[in-house]
Amino acid sequence: MKALVVDDAKVVRVSLGRMMKQLGYEVLEAADGAQGEEQMAANPDVDVVMLDWNMPVMNGYDFLVGLRKNPAHAVSPRVIMVTTETGIGQMLKALAAGADEYIMKPFDKDMVMSKLDILGLEYADS
Ligand SMILES: [Mg+2]
Repeated sequence: MKALVVDDAKVVRVSLGRMMKQLGYEVLEAADGAQGEEQMAANPDVDVVMLDWNMPVMNGYDFLVGLRKNPAHAVSPRVIMVTTETGIGQMLKALAAGADEYIMKPFDKDMVMSKLDILGLEYADS
């Protein structure tokens, strides 16, 4: 199981990465959407992307649109937006672009696990 954490805040990449590792995932990181695209090109087997919205260079929304344009990634990986952009308009925009779930910052491990459950993604419950 492989997760890609895309966030410009290192503290988020570290904390979310630690949670996903505890849940049995191999974790890849990217600090912006452009790095996220590089990671996806090198690791097309990523199962889930945890995606921030506001980032320099390329934001999470633009990354998401580009990801879903690739027929190989029309459905997989599943994408969970992890963001402070929690207005209903923003949420609907991300869901329409192919996001699968939404987590509001701040988040905890229980919240992450509940979203993985909703998406039918496996994890190690240690
Ligand atoms: Mg950010």
